Amino acid sequence: MTSPSSSPHWLPDSRIMVAQLASGILEYARRTASGEAFRLPYPANLQLALDRLTLLAWHQEVSAPGSVMELLVLTQKPFREWGIRLPDADVDTDETLLAYGRPTVVCEELGRLRGDVEGELRENALMGAVLDRARAADAPSSYVAFRELLIRKSAITALDLDVRLAEPELALLAGEARQAYVEAPPEAAADGMVRTCGGCGGLLLPLDDDRTWACEDESCPAPGKAGEEHPASEGVRWLRRELRTFVTGPGRAELRIADAVAGRGVPVRLWPDFDTCDLSVFHERPWMVDVKAWRNPIRLARQLRDRLFTVPPEVERAFVVIGREQVKAHPRYVERLRKACPEVRPGRRVVAVSEAEFLRLVNQRVKAAA
Ligand SMILES: [Zn+2]
Repeated sequence: MTSPSSSPHWLPDSRIMVAQLASGILEYARRTASGEAFRLPYPANLQLALDRLTLLAWHQEVSAPGSVMELLVLTQKPFREWGIRLPDADVDTDETLLAYGRPTVVCEELGRLRGDVEGELRENALMGAVLDRARAADAPSSYVAFRELLIRKSAITALDLDVRLAEPELALLAGEARQAYVEAPPEAAADGMVRTCGGCGGLLLPLDDDRTWACEDESCPAPGKAGEEHPASEGVRWLRRELRTFVTGPGRAELRIADAVAGRGVPVRLWPDFDTCDLSVFHERPWMVDVKAWRNPIRLARQLRDRLFTVPPEVERAFVVIGREQVKAHPRYVERLRKACPEVRPGRRVVAVSEAEFLRLVNQRVKAAA
């Protein structure tokens, strides 16, 4: 092992290298998905990441990929098989950046932390425009309807979208809603049909063998369940990738928790007051909830340390709630998160808990009040 103190000054930071690599892959995927033949040069971040990885490999006296193409092949393997150690990178050894030729959620998370300003800006620009317009019209219900549309319908036919956008609440945001969707990629259609996933409502895409179809959403609650099929001629639309990752994924947990709380007879509001938080629970002495669906607790900890939300004085308790899917994938998720981010440990103003733990706390308060 090389300790940081003995690292030569020229040795690259593996965390920055991985973030650059993830950003480069996202850009490469965007360019190849646009349907045009890919033209050199490769995204600058891919070349920069390769240069840095080469230095790391050289220092460890192991071999490095010889080209960007070889680097892209390497990124389809879990980090443990790379043969190059990445000290301090915020990744788990079983994580991969590319799966079936497409960026993984891990890649999205890493690319967003650093470098993928473009993806983040686009999301913020669109969501920002939606907020501005809903605020100007004093229409919080339109904002909520927009978020729900994105969560419940990551794939939608052109006709269905038209019908939804004619509803009074969504009409206000029709322009923004149209921008949120792009045409389904050509590979999503086979024999003139586009298949959707019954678990999440997203598109199914063919795996490398072109015979097996899979849900691309890593946090899909039921990836094996078949959903509706639409004739490709109906013009199926698909939510932009960054919105699927950062709105739809966490949104499923938000809606599920809101439903569970409402089912206990407790008042709950989604994205109250134009998104001051994800959920506001109870009328009196409200509880404030931010639902997080990051796959990796260490990367979430970094994001929370950088920008933890502020809690208004009238709020009794504030929580970062980790969705069921994430806790299932990482049984020690909450523990690791609290360790890496002391700001959300019990006793602090904002406390990180699992979805199940949060619902237990809601139950406790309801019982105590009865
Ligand atoms: Zn699915």
